[in-house]
Amino acid sequence: MTSVDVAVVGAGIVGSAIARDLAASHLSVALVEARDDVGDGTSKANTAILHTGFDARPGSLESRLVARGCRLLREYAARTGIPVERTGALLVAWTDEEVAALPGLRAKAEANGYTACRQVTAEEVYATVPHLGPGALAGLTVPDESIICTWTTNLALATDAVRRGAALLLGHRVTSVRLPATPAGPTVLVTDRGEVAARWVVNAAGLGADHLDRMLGHDRFTVTPRRGELLVFDKLARPLAPTIVLPVPSSRGKGVLVSPTVYGNVMLGPTAEDLTDRSATGTSEEGFAFLQGWGRRLMPALLDEEVTAAYAGLRAATDSDDYLVDLDVDRRYVLVGGIRSTGLTAGMAVAEHVCGLLADAGLALEPRPDLPEPPRMPQLGEAGPRPYQEADRIASDPAYGRIVCFCERVTAGEIRDACVSTIPPADSDGLRRRTRAMNGRCQGFYCGAHVRALLASGGVEASS
Ligand SMILES: Cc1cc2nc3c(=O)[nH]c(=O)nc-3n(C[C@H](O)[C@H](O)[C@H](O)COP(=O)(O)OP(=O)(O)OC[C@H]3O[C@@H](n4cnc5c(N)ncnc54)[C@H](O)[C@@H]3O)c2cc1C
Repeated sequence: MTSVDVAVVGAGIVGSAIARDLAASHLSVALVEARDDVGDGTSKANTAILHTGFDARPGSLESRLVARGCRLLREYAARTGIPVERTGALLVAWTDEEVAALPGLRAKAEANGYTACRQVTAEEVYATVPHLGPGALAGLTVPDESIICTWTTNLALATDAVRRGAALLLGHRVTSVRLPATPAGPTVLVTDRGEVAARWVVNAAGLGADHLDRMLGHDRFTVTPRRGELLVFDKLARPLAPTIVLPVPSSRGKGVLVSPTVYGNVMLGPTAEDLTDRSATGTSEEGFAFLQGWGRRLMPALLDEEVTAAYAGLRAATDSDDYLVDLDVDRRYVLVGGIRSTGLTAGMAVAEHVCGLLADAGLALEPRPDLPEPPRMPQLGEAGPRPYQEADRIASDPAYGRIVCFCERVTAGEIRDACVSTIPPADSDGLRRRTRAMNGRCQGFYCGAHVRALLASGGVEASS
């Protein structure tokens, strides 16, 4: 049995950030994950926007943690090489009611501490996004909204946690819990690969957080998986989307947007559909048709470009309109639930908040003086030079000059590096998230066999 001071369940962005922060102290930490890789749940399939939090409900925990998380992640990205581009966003009003809502949205942004929004005319809207469909009446600029790589974010946080000494227990699904037999005794997480005894438990299980909460003796909320489907357009579409184009938000969420990606593509989506199946990450004909309809109105020229991929993610929606973060001192347990559509941005601030709660409850969290430097992550973004573009790097290691995936320009050197990294990929999807291999126009049709052979050989090329 593994015994630790704190077990964090869930190695998405939120759990990884919490484990990383806890591992900065002298506590022993385990990051317990059902799947065979980190970031394989909601954190791998979202719209990858680093939000300012301008449209959050003022005074909510979410609003505070999104604003703080945005700053923390921006700084962390600069230190670790997580790709971020500050494209800004333009919120577009298409009806008179939406125009009338803009001053209120600006006031809301200011109540959230974000003062850079500016209302603009239809002319300014079209000057910024010339390919927008006809009929836009006005807009609101949000200059600090940014695009980011969600995969690298999750991987960086988990890698940091492991390098700081956290035990990463992949393939450990928590199936039941034995509550402490004595007030000071450990909580035992029973997983399908053995037991983990923990003095404290943090539940960051995303879509499974309500189930785990019940195992830990509560009955306070139900997660509704809210599916968001997205279409990815080829890189030729990129000039059409110089900024993130947002609709005026409704009670159902942030609505359908057009956004550039850090990999040079353009995304259209997401949908918002409440389901019961927590594993329904497939895409649907209805979703495709719905998005095409929106796309035709928002940016008709986009629909002339080719869709290279479609994907879906599941938000962990609850009845609450805020995050559900709660410390149960008696059970030595922290719930981190309902981290809905902003958790990529807020993750590091959620971790800071949870550590604050634990410290208030008496857990010793003095920072260790001997922390390793944060990891330097592979460069997946188009804004900086990729390995195949770096002559010096190729001269010292020719593997960076051997392209394996031609659509995304991924080299044998990057695939090898991923295979020998702190958290190597468990399968070709994990390799995609670490390198972009097979993620392009051909979706692995040409390079798939080569990529899989490299993965099977641990990144070693047959000729070397
Ligand atoms: C369509 C869509 C668009 C979004 N867009 C954005 C955006 O632009 N910007 C933004 O900031 N956020 C966005 N989000 C939200 C963001 O992706 C999530 O808030 C965030 O990824 C949640 O991270 P998490 O760690 O809480 O959950 P997850 O990433 O789901 O991690 C939870 C982990 O817990 C594990 N787990 C569950 N049950 C158990 C168990 N019993 N035992 C062990 N492990 C378990 C799961 O396998 C999973 O890996 C979007 C989400 C969606 C779906």
